[in-house]
Order: sequence, then C-alpha cells, then structure tokens
Amino acid sequence: MSLDFDVFVVDPKPIPGAVPGFEEAVGPATWPPTTSTLIRDDGGALLVDCLITEREARELAAWVKSHDCEPAYVYITHPHADHFLGLTEILAAFPEARPVALAESVPAMQEQISPAYMQVWGGFFPGQLPGKPVSPAPLDGTTIPIGGSAASVIPVGTTDTGHSSVVHVPRLSLVVAGDVVYNRTHMWLAGSTPGSRASWARALDAVAALEADTLIAGHRNPLAADDDARRQIGECRRYLADFEAALERSPTPAELIDRMTAAHPDLANPYTLWVAAYDLLGTRT
Ligand SMILES: [Zn+2]
Repeated sequence: MSLDFDVFVVDPKPIPGAVPGFEEAVGPATWPPTTSTLIRDDGGALLVDCLITEREARELAAWVKSHDCEPAYVYITHPHADHFLGLTEILAAFPEARPVALAESVPAMQEQISPAYMQVWGGFFPGQLPGKPVSPAPLDGTTIPIGGSAASVIPVGTTDTGHSSVVHVPRLSLVVAGDVVYNRTHMWLAGSTPGSRASWARALDAVAALEADTLIAGHRNPLAADDDARRQIGECRRYLADFEAALERSPTPAELIDRMTAAHPDLANPYTLWVAAYDLLGTRT
C-alpha cells in the first residue's frame, strides 16, 4: 500500500441557539461541519483529530476499519473538544493507538475535559458526549511515523485557540490544518482580540510557507469546490482582514454581521459569525 490519505466529514449538527434573532433570520443554530483525516502508508496509519460526539466517533472508527488499517497514532491538532472528545470511542476501537498532541497544548486539552468545561460542551450536545473523556499525551519531538513515511507537526501558536498546530506530509504535498484554516466556513472569532487575530494571520503565513498543494481544514463546507491549499489560505487571510475592518466600523453586532455576510455570503455555519458579533460587540442593537 502506498502513501495516501482520506477524509471523513460530519455534517453541521443542530445545537441550542443562544444568539438573539438568529433562528428567525437564518434558521436553526448549528455546529460547523468537521473533518478527521486518515493518512496511511505500508500498513502504518495516522488519524488526525477525531470529532466530538460518541455517535460520530463510532462512525469514524468504522470508517477507519473499512480502510483496513489500525492507526498507530491519533494526533490532535489543537485544544478544542470538538476535535478530540471522540478519542474515547477511537481508543475503544483501536486500543493500541497512541493519542498524542503538542506537549504545550496538553494542559489546555486537560482543561477542556474538566467537569466545568464538559458541562459547557454538554450544553451544546446534551446526552451525546462520552462519559469518560480522555486527553492525549505529549508527543515526543515533532515527527510522527506513518509506515515507511513520516508526518511533521508544525506549532503555529494562537489561531481560534492557543497552541494550535498543523500536520505536514511533504511526500503528499499535504497539510492537515485543524482550525488554522477553514474551508468555505465562517472562522471562529468569538473571544478573539486584535492580538489573537494578528497571531492567526501569522499562522496562515506559516502554513503558506509549507507550499503544500492540498490542505484539509478542520471545518470544511460540504459544498467547498476542493481542498486547494492556496485558495483556502487566501480566503482565510481575506476573512480575517475583512473582519478586522468591519469590526472597526460596526458599532453593533447587526452591522458587523451585515458587513461580513455581504463580503462572505456563501460560507457554511453563519451561526459562528453571529456568536462572534454578539460576543465582541455586546448585545447592543
Ligand atoms: Zn474546531
């Protein structure tokens, strides 16, 4: 078997809406479509990120098994529970797999599975999360073997959360980008600051410098035309710049939402934009 990869995508999931007027204006609140990527070579395999609900993680495990391989490693790109609570089900299906992450990101991952945070995540997905969430262990170094090949882990700092990273497989000209790059999907900017947004722009530069052709985003619109790396990085750079400019000019959440929706009309999960607008500009109308 030669080096290749495949992507598992889950559709947007309904969540309880908490932003005034969203359901009336747009429709039910949703969590964005999310990916997990399997990279295989010579009987070795690496799974990158593993979703959040028990059901989708079980479906992911069955999908991995259908590829006739056992992942030796599961790498988690960043400390957001929607990319790793599925680990419990994945490890039940593949007990030999080693769950790993950047050493500096592990404390934040442990915080994500603390009772307080699990209550928050349980509010989004009531009755759907694993009872015994687990956190990955620190990765030794920055290389993960995949059969006869290897992937490199690149730390890129703060994006939509601190201690983000991407996985680079040079022989495939592939980057698996976690939440550093979004594919035709609104980017998570709730809780962001001018500093965190500038850091995110620098992270995009770091990914661009890898000059990969293919990029798998952690959140990928099912209607996205392709996984072209340069297009996605360019679109995310523009989204951040447009958001910064629109935020500056918008005294109210509604104005920020209008400006961003006009500039980026067809992106998946507009609820993400509404949450950011109300978080950053209060409830002023
Ligand atoms: Zn995410």
